[in-house]
Amino acid sequence: MADYARFLEAAREAVTLSSGVCRQVQAALDEVRAITKDDKSPVTVADFASQAVVARVLRDRLGEVILVGEEDSKFLREPEHGAHLEAVTAAVREVFDDLDADAVLDLIDVGAGDTHHAGFWTLDPIDGTKGFLRGQQYAVALAYVERGTPVVGAMGCPNLPADFGRPLDTPDPEGTVYIAIKGDGAGEIVGDASPTTVRRTDLGPSDPIGVCASVEKAHTNVSDEDRILEHVVATTEHAVREPVRLDSQCKYAVTGRGQADAYLRLPTRPGYVERIWDHAAGALIAAEAGCAVTDIFGNALDFGHGRGLEKNKGVVCAPPRIHGLMIGAIESLGIRPA
Ligand code: AMP
Ligand code: MG
Repeated sequence: MADYARFLEAAREAVTLSSGVCRQVQAALDEVRAITKDDKSPVTVADFASQAVVARVLRDRLGEVILVGEEDSKFLREPEHGAHLEAVTAAVREVFDDLDADAVLDLIDVGAGDTHHAGFWTLDPIDGTKGFLRGQQYAVALAYVERGTPVVGAMGCPNLPADFGRPLDTPDPEGTVYIAIKGDGAGEIVGDASPTTVRRTDLGPSDPIGVCASVEKAHTNVSDEDRILEHVVATTEHAVREPVRLDSQCKYAVTGRGQADAYLRLPTRPGYVERIWDHAAGALIAAEAGCAVTDIFGNALDFGHGRGLEKNKGVVCAPPRIHGLMIGAIESLGIRPA
């Protein structure tokens, strides 16, 4: 069996360093835009830099690794994108000043691993692209998947406040990191402090339910979300609170830590297949915090079919009783991808 504790240490260091790099790029959005003459370039620069930093840490700590990352270096190797490559290299050099542009490109391509291995890492270097560009929530999400199941996860949420009293739509100065090993629980890390356990309790039968979902209407079906909540209100003692909208798989952490009571991701179109890196780390963290995590039909998320969750549709993540109510409502209402 792999040494999960050692894997987690590496993953935690990787997402922590990478979160710092992303934060710096986010702080310099206008500057990066000006250099690269491209509106979306800040996220591009941070995406690539994040993947390079994570690859470097995993390699330094664990030797050769299989890494399935969302990005590859093709775009940066094109001569007309030299300004982007320069900006990415500068961002990576904030933490690894021994690297030049070629070394950065090679590190990005460490992420070209494939999923046909008993165990592999999967990385979303910046999940929640739109949130990043709005100066709101995004995540650096890294997980080790073994035989179709995430077993080690670390997720940097650079703009997510640990304090529930602080707003979710403005960047927190400190941010949070979440970690989990399958069967071993989930933890939250703020700054240099030791991890604290994340463990949520289920709601009582008449507690109000607050769901969280995407900001982007293209990523979750908002009218199905309304129908589900109306059904739950009509058939139980629960009231519902105004849904919390935030980008990225920070939603799994927000649900796992008890700030929201369910994360609903309801298909907007039949053909869309969820990407493994959008869920592996977050789903493990929420599950280890005590949530049930399935697709909209109540099936476990199956990470054993390549880069997509081919066997699943959408996601429902909630503490077990609330999860049961959501799945029951979906079934009663006959909600399924059209
Ligand atoms: P969110 O932050 O919840 O809006 O989700 C961001 C992720 O949604 C991105 O990383 C994309 O991979 C993914 N995505 C893109 N298109 C869709 C879609 N049609 N349905 C669901 N997710 C999508
Ligand atoms: Mg993503």
